[in-house]
Amino acid sequence: MYSTTLHLEKIRADFPILHRKVNGQALIYLDNAATSQTPLSVIDAISDYYKNTNANIHRGVHALSQEATDLFEAARKKIQTHFNATHAHEIILTSGTTHSINLVANGFASLLNEGDELIVSALEHHANIVPWQMLCERTKAKLNVIPMTENGTLDMEAFDAMVNSKTKVVFVNHVSNALGVINPIEHIIKKAHAVGAAVLIDGAQATPHLIPDMQALDVDFYTTSAHKICGPTGIGMLYGKEEWLRKLPPYQGGGEMIDQVTFEKTTYADLPHKFEAGTPNIAGGVGFGAAIAYMNSIGFDAIKAHENDLLHHATKKLSEIEGLRIYGNVPNKVAVISFNVTGLHPYDIGTLLDKMGIAVRTGHHCCQPIMDFYQIPGTVRASFAFYNTHEEVERFVSGLEKAISMLR
Ligand SMILES: *Cc1c(COP(=O)(O)O)cnc(C)c1O
Repeated sequence: MYSTTLHLEKIRADFPILHRKVNGQALIYLDNAATSQTPLSVIDAISDYYKNTNANIHRGVHALSQEATDLFEAARKKIQTHFNATHAHEIILTSGTTHSINLVANGFASLLNEGDELIVSALEHHANIVPWQMLCERTKAKLNVIPMTENGTLDMEAFDAMVNSKTKVVFVNHVSNALGVINPIEHIIKKAHAVGAAVLIDGAQATPHLIPDMQALDVDFYTTSAHKICGPTGIGMLYGKEEWLRKLPPYQGGGEMIDQVTFEKTTYADLPHKFEAGTPNIAGGVGFGAAIAYMNSIGFDAIKAHENDLLHHATKKLSEIEGLRIYGNVPNKVAVISFNVTGLHPYDIGTLLDKMGIAVRTGHHCCQPIMDFYQIPGTVRASFAFYNTHEEVERFVSGLEKAISMLR
């Protein structure tokens, strides 16, 4: 009934976890916006690293240390190429999006003055709100919020009116993890640059579905986490334009990030090491590189086409259910569906689905301001990846219908 350009049986064979049972039922994993599953090529890359190469990097003269350094730096290069950054040293390997944003927000403490303004959006993950609130407390800068509209998009007229010569940093996600809506970041970047403000884009939810081009976007900072793109947890990226990374002070002090240390004065290492204090997650970096290679072997055009099919199929089926409301049901979105059913608590729906082996997320999705806007405690969120199938959509919808009839 549904055709796809992806060879799904072959792809699913790459993911051992997709073949296990949960509560006696074949697992249907629809929580990809929280974390994606890991293919064998990534698991093998990490395991091979520990079996054959494990050593500390950038320090030893011995062969293993050199090889480990080469593998880690090759991963950085793969990430640079994938996101089309101008230089490999503009890719800082962090523990993930949260770390990346804290690094930047912390750095701006020395660049802001009282009365400066920052702009955030109402659609952000807490990771792109709280570090900036902490910055505002320290600097007395003012935080302005781009409001959202009933359909889950940003009020761009309000944004345009908010940007002025006092605006110093604008931080918005590329794709909302709670709703799946794609934000107009090209416009936001141009408008912010017109007043000399820096822009940080939280790309954690965009990078599983599309390839953002750092040079074409002309963005100042862009962040993501490997575990959202089939990579391991505990590793991620901060892309920063060279000029900005030079302006920001180091985030953490320690080994690796120094040039010379004396008790009188310490000088810092050059980029990217200035921001990579201590022994990094070397195996994670290797796994991150392998994940990028894996995603590209499938191809983002094919991924997008298949995920769009799943999104439309699921949206159509869900819309037929009485009393079901989808939040952020706009044309420009990725395969994330956030919904509620009148009179039912999202947690109850999620619990019953879990009994049927269907993994969805329920709650506020680290986006309490969005839930407050809709005046709801949370939503049920089904988020799809390229390895999900139309049969899984069918089973999810019939499971949901069953859960609703049990709760009503
Ligand atoms: C997952 C996610 C984060 C947080 O990522 P961590 O890996 O937990 O640091 C931040 N923003 C968005 C949009 C996300 O989807």
